[in-house]
Amino acid sequence: MTTLSAFGLDENGLVSIPETEYRVCQSVLEPLEKLTAVAKSAGFSLRIESAYRSFERQLSIWNRKATGKLTLRDAQGVPFPELPQDEEILMRAILFWSALPGTSRHHFGTDLDVVDGNSVPAGYEVELTEEECDGMFAPFHRWLSSQIDEKKSFGFTRVFVPGCGKIQPERWHISHRPSARELEKCFDEKALRAVYEKADICLKSAILDNFDELMRDYVYPYFEK
Ligand SMILES: [Zn+2]
Repeated sequence: MTTLSAFGLDENGLVSIPETEYRVCQSVLEPLEKLTAVAKSAGFSLRIESAYRSFERQLSIWNRKATGKLTLRDAQGVPFPELPQDEEILMRAILFWSALPGTSRHHFGTDLDVVDGNSVPAGYEVELTEEECDGMFAPFHRWLSSQIDEKKSFGFTRVFVPGCGKIQPERWHISHRPSARELEKCFDEKALRAVYEKADICLKSAILDNFDELMRDYVYPYFEK
């Protein structure tokens, strides 16, 4: 594990999750298999919607949002009629729904987005929204909450919880804490700043001008206390 592993720029140590297109850190595989097995015995099918994500992939999302090639939505999910002209306003609008490349916890390979595959209606495309969590996935999330509360989740917990940092609560996002802890230790903000200085990233000056605040609001609140 290296400094770059925390930014999605070093893929050594990642392994494929059997029967999926996703990859995670080696140390996440066994606990994930165990969680999947107990979910199954409770009547749920733990389905992965996202796992490891590279810096390049997050950069592509970021740059497409910054240039209007991907729909930019406001806090209520309504598409902006036109892109904000001010770089800082635009940056904050993107941050509402998308992580800054290098700061996504999906870079760690220890965090996953999960749903209950048994509850997805045929032909329905999962969007990962609050409405889904309160609706079709509500029984699954109640079950997952009780597993976490009773410490029967094999090290997995939720990290994007209400009242913590500036990232919206995401019930579907779980982190394997013992593995993530190691990546959090590797996270070096000076190294990340150097990555941005060299990267072909939109809104670079807004990012660098507000760097400390971005770390304070979008990165460190989610590290293990
Ligand atoms: Zn996620």
